[in-house]
Amino acid sequence: MNATSATGSITLRPLPAFQDNYIWMLARDNEAIVVDPGDAAPVHAALRRTGLNLTGIVVTHHHGDHVGGVAELADAYRTRVWGPRREEIPRRQVALDEGDSVELLGEVFSVIDVPGHTLGHIALHSPAGGTLLCGDTLFACGCGRLFEGTPAQMVVSLGKLARLPGPTRVYCAHEYTLSNIRFALAVEPDNADLAARQRACKEQRERGEPTVPSTIAEERATNPFLRCSEPVVRAAAERRTPGAGADPVSTFAAIRAWKNSF
Ligand code: ZN
Ligand code: FE
Repeated sequence: MNATSATGSITLRPLPAFQDNYIWMLARDNEAIVVDPGDAAPVHAALRRTGLNLTGIVVTHHHGDHVGGVAELADAYRTRVWGPRREEIPRRQVALDEGDSVELLGEVFSVIDVPGHTLGHIALHSPAGGTLLCGDTLFACGCGRLFEGTPAQMVVSLGKLARLPGPTRVYCAHEYTLSNIRFALAVEPDNADLAARQRACKEQRERGEPTVPSTIAEERATNPFLRCSEPVVRAAAERRTPGAGADPVSTFAAIRAWKNSF
Protein backbone atom coordinates (compact mmCIF):
# COMPACT_ATOMS: atom_id res chain seq x y z
CA MET A 1 0.00 0.00 0.00
CA ASN A 2 1.82 3.10 -1.18
CA ALA A 3 -0.94 5.67 -1.35
CA THR A 4 0.43 9.08 -0.60
CA SER A 5 -1.22 12.44 -0.69
CA ALA A 6 0.45 15.79 -0.70
CA THR A 7 -0.42 18.72 1.53
CA GLY A 8 1.69 21.61 0.40
CA SER A 9 5.12 20.16 0.66
CA ILE A 10 4.24 17.61 3.36
CA THR A 11 3.42 14.09 2.21
CA LEU A 12 1.23 11.77 4.27
CA ARG A 13 1.38 8.02 3.89
CA PRO A 14 -0.47 5.40 5.88
CA LEU A 15 1.55 2.67 7.59
CA PRO A 16 -0.87 -0.19 8.24
CA ALA A 17 -0.61 -1.66 11.76
CA PHE A 18 -2.43 -4.42 13.64
CA GLN A 19 -5.73 -5.40 11.97
CA ASP A 20 -7.01 -2.03 10.82
CA ASN A 21 -4.93 0.82 12.28
CA TYR A 22 -3.18 3.46 10.21
CA ILE A 23 -0.06 5.13 11.56
CA TRP A 24 0.19 8.31 9.47
CA MET A 25 3.70 9.21 8.44
CA LEU A 26 4.19 12.87 7.53
CA ALA A 27 7.30 13.51 5.48
CA ARG A 28 9.07 16.51 4.07
CA ASP A 29 12.55 16.48 2.53
CA ASN A 30 14.38 13.84 4.59
CA GLU A 31 12.37 14.22 7.80
CA ALA A 32 9.39 12.25 9.05
CA ILE A 33 6.90 12.52 11.89
CA VAL A 34 4.52 9.70 12.79
CA VAL A 35 1.06 10.00 14.31
CA ASP A 36 -0.21 7.43 16.83
CA PRO A 37 2.43 4.70 16.45
CA GLY A 38 0.72 1.85 18.26
CA ASP A 39 3.45 -0.46 17.00
CA ALA A 40 7.09 0.49 16.34
CA ALA A 41 7.76 -2.23 13.75
CA PRO A 42 5.94 -0.70 10.75
CA VAL A 43 7.63 2.63 11.51
CA HIS A 44 11.12 1.09 11.64
CA ALA A 45 10.37 -0.66 8.34
CA ALA A 46 9.10 2.51 6.64
CA LEU A 47 12.14 4.48 7.79
CA ARG A 48 14.46 1.80 6.42
CA ARG A 49 12.53 1.70 3.14
CA THR A 50 12.43 5.46 2.62
CA GLY A 51 15.67 6.57 4.26
CA LEU A 52 13.76 9.27 6.16
CA ASN A 53 14.82 10.43 9.63
CA LEU A 54 12.19 10.25 12.33
CA THR A 55 12.17 13.58 14.18
CA GLY A 56 8.80 13.56 15.90
CA ILE A 57 5.87 11.58 17.26
CA VAL A 58 2.37 12.98 17.66
CA VAL A 59 -0.21 11.21 19.83
CA THR A 60 -3.95 11.95 19.78
CA HIS A 61 -5.00 9.84 22.81
CA HIS A 62 -3.72 7.28 25.28
CA HIS A 63 -5.09 3.98 23.90
CA GLY A 64 -2.56 1.19 23.45
CA ASP A 65 -3.09 0.86 19.70
CA HIS A 66 -1.96 4.51 19.42
CA VAL A 67 0.89 4.71 21.95
CA GLY A 68 2.26 1.13 22.04
CA GLY A 69 5.31 1.97 19.92
CA VAL A 70 6.04 5.45 21.29
CA ALA A 71 8.62 4.57 23.95
CA GLU A 72 10.60 2.29 21.65
CA LEU A 73 10.67 4.85 18.82
CA ALA A 74 11.44 7.77 21.14
CA ASP A 75 14.37 5.82 22.62
CA ALA A 76 15.67 4.69 19.23
CA TYR A 77 15.58 8.07 17.45
CA ARG A 78 16.04 11.70 18.42
CA THR A 79 12.38 12.64 18.39
CA ARG A 80 10.07 15.19 19.98
CA VAL A 81 6.92 13.65 21.41
CA TRP A 82 3.75 15.73 21.44
CA GLY A 83 0.62 14.49 23.21
CA PRO A 84 -2.59 15.57 24.92
CA ARG A 85 -2.07 17.42 28.17
CA ARG A 86 -4.82 15.64 30.01
CA GLU A 87 -3.71 12.07 29.33
CA GLU A 88 -0.71 9.99 30.29
CA ILE A 89 1.44 9.54 27.19
CA PRO A 90 4.76 7.68 27.32
CA ARG A 91 7.85 9.90 26.77
CA ARG A 92 5.66 12.98 26.17
CA GLN A 93 7.77 16.15 25.99
CA VAL A 94 5.25 18.71 24.80
CA ALA A 95 1.74 18.70 26.29
CA LEU A 96 -0.96 20.01 23.97
CA ASP A 97 -4.28 21.66 24.66
CA GLU A 98 -6.94 23.47 22.67
CA GLY A 99 -5.62 26.72 21.25
CA ASP A 100 -2.00 25.57 21.14
CA SER A 101 -0.16 25.69 17.84
CA VAL A 102 2.50 23.21 16.91
CA GLU A 103 4.84 23.34 13.93
CA LEU A 104 5.26 19.96 12.25
CA LEU A 105 7.78 19.86 9.38
CA GLY A 106 7.36 23.58 8.85
CA GLU A 107 3.57 23.56 8.81
CA VAL A 108 1.49 25.03 11.63
CA PHE A 109 -1.21 22.81 13.14
CA SER A 110 -3.70 24.03 15.70
CA VAL A 111 -4.81 21.79 18.51
CA ILE A 112 -8.51 21.07 19.02
CA ASP A 113 -9.83 19.36 22.17
CA VAL A 114 -12.22 16.61 21.15
CA PRO A 115 -13.31 14.74 24.30
CA GLY A 116 -15.65 11.77 23.89
CA HIS A 117 -13.76 8.66 22.77
CA THR A 118 -11.36 9.52 25.61
CA LEU A 119 -11.55 12.59 27.82
CA GLY A 120 -8.24 14.15 26.77
CA HIS A 121 -8.37 13.27 23.05
CA ILE A 122 -6.96 15.98 20.77
CA ALA A 123 -7.07 16.57 17.01
CA LEU A 124 -4.62 18.65 14.97
CA HIS A 125 -5.65 20.84 12.06
CA SER A 126 -3.42 22.55 9.52
CA PRO A 127 -5.39 25.32 7.79
CA ALA A 128 -2.60 25.88 5.24
CA GLY A 129 -2.28 22.20 4.34
CA GLY A 130 -6.00 21.42 4.65
CA THR A 131 -5.13 18.49 6.90
CA LEU A 132 -6.95 17.09 9.93
CA LEU A 133 -5.35 14.42 12.13
CA CYS A 134 -8.23 13.14 14.23
CA GLY A 135 -7.26 9.79 15.74
CA ASP A 136 -10.34 7.87 16.89
CA THR A 137 -12.77 10.81 17.13
CA LEU A 138 -14.04 11.20 13.56
CA PHE A 139 -13.81 8.15 11.30
CA ALA A 140 -14.66 7.92 7.63
CA CYS A 141 -18.45 7.66 7.83
CA GLY A 142 -18.36 7.01 11.58
CA CYS A 143 -17.00 8.08 14.94
CA GLY A 144 -15.19 6.57 17.89
CA ARG A 145 -16.96 4.74 20.67
CA LEU A 146 -17.59 6.68 23.86
CA PHE A 147 -15.18 4.96 26.23
CA GLU A 148 -14.80 7.93 28.57
CA GLY A 149 -16.95 10.87 27.49
CA THR A 150 -20.66 11.59 27.16
CA PRO A 151 -22.80 11.94 24.04
CA ALA A 152 -23.08 15.68 24.71
CA GLN A 153 -19.27 16.04 24.77
CA MET A 154 -18.88 14.03 21.58
CA VAL A 155 -21.52 16.07 19.76
CA VAL A 156 -19.60 19.25 20.62
CA SER A 157 -16.29 17.64 19.58
CA LEU A 158 -17.62 16.37 16.25
CA GLY A 159 -19.26 19.76 15.66
CA LYS A 160 -15.87 21.47 15.90
CA LEU A 161 -14.49 19.15 13.22
CA ALA A 162 -17.58 19.41 11.01
CA ARG A 163 -17.16 23.19 10.85
CA LEU A 164 -13.68 22.97 9.34
CA PRO A 165 -13.47 23.88 5.63
CA GLY A 166 -15.14 21.30 3.36
CA PRO A 167 -11.98 20.39 1.40
CA THR A 168 -10.06 19.53 4.62
CA ARG A 169 -8.70 15.99 4.34
CA VAL A 170 -9.60 13.74 7.25
CA TYR A 171 -6.79 11.42 8.37
CA CYS A 172 -8.29 9.06 10.94
CA ALA A 173 -6.54 6.14 12.61
CA HIS A 174 -8.58 3.10 11.49
CA GLU A 175 -9.85 1.50 8.28
CA TYR A 176 -13.45 1.01 9.38
CA THR A 177 -15.09 2.70 6.42
CA LEU A 178 -17.02 -0.13 4.72
CA SER A 179 -18.65 -1.35 7.94
CA ASN A 180 -19.37 2.26 8.91
CA ILE A 181 -21.08 2.80 5.55
CA ARG A 182 -23.20 -0.34 5.99
CA PHE A 183 -24.46 1.09 9.27
CA ALA A 184 -24.96 4.58 7.80
CA LEU A 185 -27.15 3.03 5.09
CA ALA A 186 -29.33 1.47 7.81
CA VAL A 187 -29.82 4.99 9.20
CA GLU A 188 -30.24 6.71 5.80
CA PRO A 189 -31.18 4.11 3.14
CA ASP A 190 -32.08 6.83 0.60
CA ASN A 191 -28.92 8.94 0.85
CA ALA A 192 -27.56 8.88 -2.72
CA ASP A 193 -24.17 10.31 -1.69
CA LEU A 194 -23.84 7.43 0.75
CA ALA A 195 -24.62 4.82 -1.90
CA ALA A 196 -22.03 6.41 -4.19
CA ARG A 197 -19.50 6.44 -1.37
CA GLN A 198 -20.09 2.73 -0.75
CA ARG A 199 -19.39 1.92 -4.42
CA ALA A 200 -16.22 4.03 -4.46
CA CYS A 201 -14.87 2.65 -1.17
CA LYS A 202 -15.57 -0.97 -2.19
CA GLU A 203 -13.51 -0.40 -5.32
CA GLN A 204 -10.69 1.13 -3.29
CA ARG A 205 -10.62 -1.83 -0.90
CA GLU A 206 -10.71 -4.30 -3.81
CA ARG A 207 -7.62 -2.56 -5.19
CA GLY A 208 -6.00 -2.85 -1.74
CA GLU A 209 -6.09 0.93 -1.22
CA PRO A 210 -7.06 2.81 1.94
CA THR A 211 -10.37 4.66 1.94
CA VAL A 212 -8.74 7.37 4.03
CA PRO A 213 -8.36 10.33 3.81
CA SER A 214 -11.88 11.49 3.13
CA THR A 215 -12.90 15.14 3.29
CA ILE A 216 -14.98 17.12 5.75
CA ALA A 217 -17.45 17.83 2.93
CA GLU A 218 -17.92 14.09 2.31
CA GLU A 219 -18.37 13.48 6.02
CA ARG A 220 -21.01 16.20 6.31
CA ALA A 221 -22.92 14.62 3.42
CA THR A 222 -22.73 10.98 4.53
CA ASN A 223 -21.58 10.50 8.13
CA PRO A 224 -24.68 9.94 10.30
CA PHE A 225 -22.83 11.10 13.42
CA LEU A 226 -22.35 14.55 11.85
CA ARG A 227 -25.96 14.59 10.67
CA CYS A 228 -27.87 14.40 13.96
CA SER A 229 -29.71 17.65 13.13
CA GLU A 230 -30.97 16.30 9.79
CA PRO A 231 -34.68 15.40 9.92
CA VAL A 232 -34.06 12.02 8.25
CA VAL A 233 -31.45 11.01 10.86
CA ARG A 234 -33.59 12.27 13.73
CA ALA A 235 -36.53 10.28 12.39
CA ALA A 236 -34.43 7.11 12.15
CA ALA A 237 -33.27 7.59 15.76
CA GLU A 238 -36.85 8.16 16.86
CA ARG A 239 -38.01 4.92 15.21
CA ARG A 240 -35.18 3.04 16.94
CA THR A 241 -35.54 4.75 20.36
CA PRO A 242 -38.78 6.64 21.00
CA GLY A 243 -37.98 10.18 22.16
CA ALA A 244 -34.50 10.18 20.61
CA GLY A 245 -35.53 12.47 17.77
CA ALA A 246 -36.14 15.33 20.19
CA ASP A 247 -32.69 16.93 19.98
CA PRO A 248 -29.29 16.32 18.35
CA VAL A 249 -27.63 14.93 21.50
CA SER A 250 -30.41 12.38 22.05
CA THR A 251 -30.27 11.47 18.36
CA PHE A 252 -26.50 11.04 18.56
CA ALA A 253 -26.77 8.89 21.71
CA ALA A 254 -29.39 6.67 20.07
CA ILE A 255 -27.50 6.07 16.84
CA ARG A 256 -24.18 5.56 18.70
CA ALA A 257 -25.88 2.88 20.85
CA TRP A 258 -27.51 1.39 17.72
CA LYS A 259 -24.11 1.20 15.99
CA ASN A 260 -22.60 -0.58 19.01
CA SER A 261 -25.06 -3.44 18.54
CA PHE A 262 -25.21 -3.34 14.74
ZN1 ZN B 1 -8.82 4.73 20.65
FE1 FE C 1 -7.73 3.17 17.99
